[in-house]
Amino acid sequence: MPEEESRKVVLDRSDFGTWYNDVIELANLSDKRYPIKGMNVWTPYGWKIMRLIDSAIRRECDATGHGEVNFPLLIPKTEFQKEADHIKGFDSEVYWVTHGGLDELDVPLLLRPTSETAMYPMFSLWVRSHNDLPLKTYQIVNTFRYETKMTRSFIRVREIHFFEAHTCHADAEDAERQIREDCAIMDRVARDLCLPYLLVKRPDWDKFAGAVYTIGVDTVMPSMRTLQLGSIHQYHENFSRPYDIKYEGADGEHHHVHQTTYGMSERLVGAIVGVHGDDKGIILPPKVAPIQFVIIPILAKGKTEMVLEEARRLKEEVSAMGYRVHLDERDQRPGSKHYDWEIKGVPIRIELGPRDIEAGTLVFARRDLSTKRTVSRSDLRSETRRAMDDIEVELSGRARSILDNGVRFAGSPEEYRKLSHEGWDGVVKANWCGEMGCAESMERALDRTFLGYPLSDSGEVETSPGGCYECGSPTDKIVLLSRSY
Ligand code: ZN
Repeated sequence: MPEEESRKVVLDRSDFGTWYNDVIELANLSDKRYPIKGMNVWTPYGWKIMRLIDSAIRRECDATGHGEVNFPLLIPKTEFQKEADHIKGFDSEVYWVTHGGLDELDVPLLLRPTSETAMYPMFSLWVRSHNDLPLKTYQIVNTFRYETKMTRSFIRVREIHFFEAHTCHADAEDAERQIREDCAIMDRVARDLCLPYLLVKRPDWDKFAGAVYTIGVDTVMPSMRTLQLGSIHQYHENFSRPYDIKYEGADGEHHHVHQTTYGMSERLVGAIVGVHGDDKGIILPPKVAPIQFVIIPILAKGKTEMVLEEARRLKEEVSAMGYRVHLDERDQRPGSKHYDWEIKGVPIRIELGPRDIEAGTLVFARRDLSTKRTVSRSDLRSETRRAMDDIEVELSGRARSILDNGVRFAGSPEEYRKLSHEGWDGVVKANWCGEMGCAESMERALDRTFLGYPLSDSGEVETSPGGCYECGSPTDKIVLLSRSY
């Protein structure tokens, strides 16, 4: 059997769960064979995607005056235990280090599940006066959570590639300003990834352990289940009191700081894979593609050297324009090469053969549409830019329709039944009176859990007058319920 046929694996995105696992393996983004469940090995290709996403996050944090820090992985139990709600939230997920060599440690240490309890004892030393505020920091590190549910690459893991921003402010108003800035950062990063999302204020029973409130950033996968991409937390003084983070104000008095945090992880990679991919493999948004252009020389007898030389020249030119470009010189048939780069989601394939060279043309093949276009070699600069822009528009548009189709309003059980009969399985938007009894009944009846209150782009809680889905009482509270990863 020819090589390319023997390697062909059928990818079928209508069975999303299987497709997701298969495509990650075929595109070689991560290796699951490491002997600890949920601690996967990043391959060079997968890690490069993650690093490009990290660069976008760093760019935004640096531009908004955050300083990058790097705190220790180990946290003493004594520090971890200072904030009661936080301990309750993480107690069952923590990995403990109890021994150093053969000696049992006096104070057990834990692997950070998140870094509040590592950072805040230091913040209490760093913050002295109002001149030290706002203190805006972030780090991109690995964190650890003992996950007991079924793990899934990039989506549910035990070693997490984590971005966490931690800030301190003089007052609640400045902390609120920070939350709005976090939303703006999210917007700019998500644009690079061509990922639309919902901003959702979590219900009180589902907020982050120790937070006053939590805003979840959720996207909708093609399976219509939601995936949390990030979360933004308002702490007020909940941590600054137990950790004693105080500043001397202009009034000469000492005040506790107000704090916020913002977290994201490799789930962004999971969302890119899930939202943009198709039956041929993954499709990478140009800004985070490790290879944006792959050049495939079409070699003909007697003209091999000539084509290769021209292909190498082309590679230099595209590279000089600031793009990440790869020339595939492997001794393989073009069809087999196409197959490989399609699986890996390279946005544009450039084909170059003897006839193209004679005619002064190139063939641009788009991964997202599977279309080919002959372009003039002399228009290389404008054509490369246009190709990148067009792919971003196409991917964002498709992702937007997945999300739009994935959220529907149901005013009553009858309306919901109609949606289910159509086979629709997405996020239900409904009125809710605010009673816990109704919330529990709604979760059971809809077989979904409360995602929370939808927020507008400007961060206002959306309202709309209607009757509670369960009891019919008039209310303008709107909630989202979903099946989530
Ligand atoms: Zn009700």
